[in-house]
Amino acid sequence: MTLVLADLPAATQEAVAATRERVAALHAELPRNQLVVWTAGNVSERVPATDPEVPALLVIKPSGVSYDELTAENMVVCTLDGKKIVDGTSDALTPSSDTAAHAYVYAHMDEVGGVVHTHSTYATAWAARGEEIPCVLTMMADEFGGPVPIGPFAIIGDDSIGHGIVETLRGHRSPAVLMQNHGPFTIGKDARAAVKAAVMVEEVARTVHISRQLGEPLPIAQQHIDSLYDRYQNVYGQR
Ligand SMILES: [Zn+2]
Repeated sequence: MTLVLADLPAATQEAVAATRERVAALHAELPRNQLVVWTAGNVSERVPATDPEVPALLVIKPSGVSYDELTAENMVVCTLDGKKIVDGTSDALTPSSDTAAHAYVYAHMDEVGGVVHTHSTYATAWAARGEEIPCVLTMMADEFGGPVPIGPFAIIGDDSIGHGIVETLRGHRSPAVLMQNHGPFTIGKDARAAVKAAVMVEEVARTVHISRQLGEPLPIAQQHIDSLYDRYQNVYGQR
């Protein structure tokens, strides 16, 4: 059965509108931080629950639309089983081809409110080797709490990418996974946090890569990683 946005409760329509504004605005951060080329990459956010009668919803980028042309109106709204809802403004557009992966993450990780995917160069270069990024920077201990893990090789088009993300990140400190031969997927409590993780994973992938060119980066002892992570996460949580 097709869901029509205009038929949903007013509070849900307002939550969808606010989520579309946020997701559209956050897409500008991907080219701004040089994480994407052409129309690659996508940001999604879970729509805050407003009514127990309404199925869980997500907002995501339309497929194949230039970053310059992304607006709140052309963001696509879907249920977590990937069905597009009729919203009156993006009805001619199809959702990102990665929607199934995003939806799978929301369906299986209740704490996740935002998901981002890019093929940012350095992070994807580590993914191409299937090599995790070792925790050799204090900012990695802060942000990722350890190495950035590699996820399995997965074919595009079904649940296997989503399954690989959840399998790798569930119970892991890192909000980023490098899907082998593909690129980074990041998660966060909201889309903004997931975008930050996408920016940070590219930054550390680049720095550790450069460090490697002239020698072997020094590991950080596990107890220092633990204390850096705890301190950073607690400070962050209190702001
Ligand atoms: Zn991709």
